Amino acid sequence: MDDIEGLWELQKNESLLLELGKKLKEVQNGKNLKTIAAQLEEKEKAILKLKSSVEERENSLNKENLALEELDFKLKEREKNLFHGNILDLKQLTLLNEEREKLKEEIEEKENKILTILEDIDDFKLRLAKLEKDFKDLKKEYRSLVKEYKSILEELNEESIRVKERIKKISSSLDRDLLLKFKQLVDNKGVAVVEVIDNRCGGCNMVLPAMTVDRLKHSQAILHCENCDRILYLDKKQA
Ligand SMILES: [Zn+2]
Repeated sequence: MDDIEGLWELQKNESLLLELGKKLKEVQNGKNLKTIAAQLEEKEKAILKLKSSVEERENSLNKENLALEELDFKLKEREKNLFHGNILDLKQLTLLNEEREKLKEEIEEKENKILTILEDIDDFKLRLAKLEKDFKDLKKEYRSLVKEYKSILEELNEESIRVKERIKKISSSLDRDLLLKFKQLVDNKGVAVVEVIDNRCGGCNMVLPAMTVDRLKHSQAILHCENCDRILYLDKKQA
């Protein structure tokens, strides 16, 4: 392989490696994956919150049930005294009756409160079930996406290894000084070898002297652009 062809091949592979590196980075901080991960976290938090709400309501349900039992017991006591006891004092009986009415009211209030709590618990549990299903579905999507990303990463990595091997092989066949110049240009300009298209430098777009283009057409000389110093490559099959 002529030096200029070798340099051009080297440039193409260097550019490809750069491209692969960019793609790798893109995949690595994959937005899609991050978005889903954030959604998962959010849903998990909401699930935990709902679970603790259910727990809290169940605790107060227990408390209210106990209180209701106590009220029921008190009511029965009053009624026993009122209807089967041997109190004959009218004032005392009136008082007992008033207490009985009050207890009945309290019991009704308690029962309503318990009903509300039960409704809350049902509502929370329904929401929890839906949220848990959403979470499960999303997790599944996340897992398959991770799998996909992993295989893309693997492919890109393998491709990078192949390109690096090609770069090594081409580099070893090139003249050392030429290779050094190539590396300097890459460091300074990003791209060392540029293609000549329509008699213009592919790096800085300057129109090249006719003599330069002519020499490129008819020789394997290593020529630099006078303006940007990049190495010029002309595809002889196209020209
Ligand atoms: Zn140039």
